[in-house]
Parts: sequence; structure tokens; C-alpha cells
Amino acid sequence: SVHLRTSRTPARSAAWRRRRRGTGLVVRAEMFGQLTTGLESAWNKLRGVGVLTKENIAEPMRDIRRALLEADIVHDELVQLMGGEVSDIVFAKSGPTVILLAGLQGVGKTTVCAKLAFYLKKLGKSCMLVAADIYRPAAIDQLTILGKQVGVPVYSEGTEAKPTQITKNAMEEAKSKNIDAIVVDTAGRLQIDRSMMDELKEVKKAVNPTEVLLVVDAMTGQEAAALVTTFNIEIGITGAILTKLDGDSRGGAALSVKEVSGRPIKFVGRGERLEDLELFYPDRMAQRVLGMGDVLSFVEKTQEVMRQEEAIELQKKIMSAKFDFNDFLKQSQNVAKMGSMSRIIGMMPGMNKITPAQIREAEKRLAFVESMINAMTAEEREKPELLAESRERRIRVAEESGKTEQEVSQLVAQLFQMRAQMQKLMGMVQGQEAIAGMG
Ligand code: GDP
Ligand code: MG
Repeated sequence: SVHLRTSRTPARSAAWRRRRRGTGLVVRAEMFGQLTTGLESAWNKLRGVGVLTKENIAEPMRDIRRALLEADIVHDELVQLMGGEVSDIVFAKSGPTVILLAGLQGVGKTTVCAKLAFYLKKLGKSCMLVAADIYRPAAIDQLTILGKQVGVPVYSEGTEAKPTQITKNAMEEAKSKNIDAIVVDTAGRLQIDRSMMDELKEVKKAVNPTEVLLVVDAMTGQEAAALVTTFNIEIGITGAILTKLDGDSRGGAALSVKEVSGRPIKFVGRGERLEDLELFYPDRMAQRVLGMGDVLSFVEKTQEVMRQEEAIELQKKIMSAKFDFNDFLKQSQNVAKMGSMSRIIGMMPGMNKITPAQIREAEKRLAFVESMINAMTAEEREKPELLAESRERRIRVAEESGKTEQEVSQLVAQLFQMRAQMQKLMGMVQGQEAIAGMG
């Protein structure tokens, strides 16, 4: 049967080493492009063929193999690019660990505060949240509610005190109460601005945090690199947290963090609940960025559709005019499978070739045909003539499948039409071969 690589192999070509030396995201974006182009090209070739044979699937298979190889190479490179390994919270050697959160407005800082408190609690650490976003009273209320949910104290001095003072006082309180860690929620703006940076710098100077984590929305596109660079230069970060990864972005923003700041992504947020915060695994992220999951299911589906023996068997049947209802069913199943393949391909950018409506149509058609063929006897399936000749048989199939006699008649007629078309096609091919042979 057709054999495809579905697992990663360590084979490293000269091309790989050349690329390894290549720098910047431009090269990588190009490689990603190759992956999708390779699959697209394979798909287009596959869609063009009616009956799959050893000969006509060879080329699309080559495309898929090449695409996978590329994906593999890029995958390894992406893992390295994102730091290679998991990196957890660092704790202070003595006194409370101070975790300062920074980031633009709406990225999920306040939510992350609560999630981190929840995470730390699970590690057996006592924790306190600090309300240093004083510009919106609602922000303090939000943090207070979240603190109650987690079951940790929230330190607040209302909206009158300065963030620096609040944070300093919170740290003293944590010290005196022997609290292991404080997580400081700060204000964000819609855009990076001077006063936000100055405020963060001041807070940082005042409490010398153990961690300064930049919270980044996974939907952030091209501007992620500039964002991370600015925060890192201005205040100095120790890592980042990527939020809203439960959305449908590929999370490409993850690629720039380490590269531009030298600091790792430590956590990812995957939802609004407290437990939706996980350590960041570069390996998984690389798969997501590349759409490896999609690629692998594509390959699996392809293998399903293209069992070569089946294709050859089918071709023999056609040549000997014995295309029957068993073959008909197989063919219909393949069409439906191709439909679900295209759904996977459709997940990739720029590849929406078959609409979901068309896929649903093919699947509906399959269910419709299947129920009638299932109601046929083995003999009837192999000898459709029996059904063509006997109205009684057609009525019986209709009754058993819950269809009308007319629908069964149409199915039988369709089979004979397909047979005739295939015979004609075969005749043409054989004719051409004969002509070519004469030359
Ligand atoms: P802040 O302005 O940075 O403090 O952002 P918030 O913590 O107030 O979050 C803004 C919105 O994003 C809220 O509606 C959160 O529920 C939502 N949010 C935060 N993190 C996530 C996440 O990982 N996934 C999803 N789907 N929503 C999130
Ligand atoms: Mg907030």
C-alpha cells in the first residue's frame, strides 16, 4: 500500500543545514509557504483524477512527501526558535516572590493574575494579588472577584494611591504574613505610551520583581516583535505569557518572543476559566504554528482513500464491465472521504477549495446511497441486472431502505450510466494506446 511518513525523522540534508544558517522569520515564512503550496498542489492533482491508480497518484504522493519533509525541518527549527524547553516560574531565594504583569489593555493581564494565583496555589504556595491598575475602578472590582474565586487575598488601596506605593506596601504585607508570592496587576493602554512605560519602570525599581512577564494576545500579528522589543528594552522582561490561544489564531506571535527578547514564553492561556493556564511547550506550539495536526490528518485521510490494491481492483472491474453496486458504494465513500480531506486542507490559509455545503452534500448523498445498497442482497449488488429486470426487487429494496421505488430505479439507472461512461472512457484510452502503439 502507499506508504507515507507520518512521524518525524532525524534525516538532515544539506538543504536543512543551509536553512539553519538562514536568519529571520522571512526565510521561515517562505518555508511555511512551501508546505502549504506542496499540499495544495497535491490536492489539486488528486481532485483532478476520477479513479485512483498507481500511476496517477504517484505525483501527488511525491508532493505530499516533500511537503511533509519541509514541515518536519521547519518544525525542528521552530522548536529551537521558541527556546526548545519548558520554563517555569522562578521563585525568589528569600522573601516573597514578586511577579509583575505588563501588557496592553485587554490582553488578559487581570485574568492571568487569577490563573497564576490558582497555579501557585496548586504548587502549594501561598499567594496574594495586588491591584495596581488604579485607572479603572472596575479593574479593582474584577481582581477582587477573581481573588475570591481562587481563594487568595487581594491587596488594594483603591484608586487614590500610586501603583509604586501600592506595590511596595503589598510586598511589606506579604513579608509580614509570610506569603510566598504576590502577583501584581498593572494598567494597560491600547497602545504603548510613555506614561505606561514610566509607571512600570517605577514599580519595577521599587520592588525589584523576580519575574516581569509580558502578557501578549495570541491574535497579535506582525506587530508582536515590535511590542516585545519595546517592553523588553524599556522595562526588561523575564518572560512572556501568550493568552487567548483557544481562539483560531495559529499563534504565530509565539515565534518572535524568544528571538527578539531572548526571554522564553512561560505560559499559555487557553480560555477564560482559572484552570485554563498551562506551561508553554515549544514542541506543541511548533506543531500548531505549522498546522502539523492538519498535515498528519491529511496524510491519514489520504492513506484511507488511496489503498492502491483497491484502486487496481476497481480498474479491473471497470475494464471487464463488472462495475457493480459494491464498487459503486466504494466510489461514493471515496468521494465523501475526499470531501473531509478538503475540510482539513481548508483549515490552511488560502486553501478553501470545496465549500462545507458541498461536503455536506457529498456526505448526504453517501448516506442516501448507502441505505439503499445495504438493503440489497449480495447477489443483487454483484448483478445489478437483477434489479433492472425486476420491479418486485426494486420495491423490496425501497421498502427496506425507507426510500421510494422511483429513487431505487434512479440509483440502478445511475449505475448503468456510470458503467457505460467508464466503458466509453476505457475504449478511448485503449484506442489512444493502440494509435500510440502504431507509431
Ligand atoms: P486586561 O485588560 O489585560 O486585564 O485583560 P482582562 O484580563 O480583563 O481580559 C480581557 C478579556 O479577555 C476578558 O473578557 C477575559 O475573559 C478574556 N480572556 C483573558 N484570557 C483569555 C484566554 O486565554 N482565552 C479567552 N478566550 N479569553 C481570555
Ligand atoms: Mg486588567
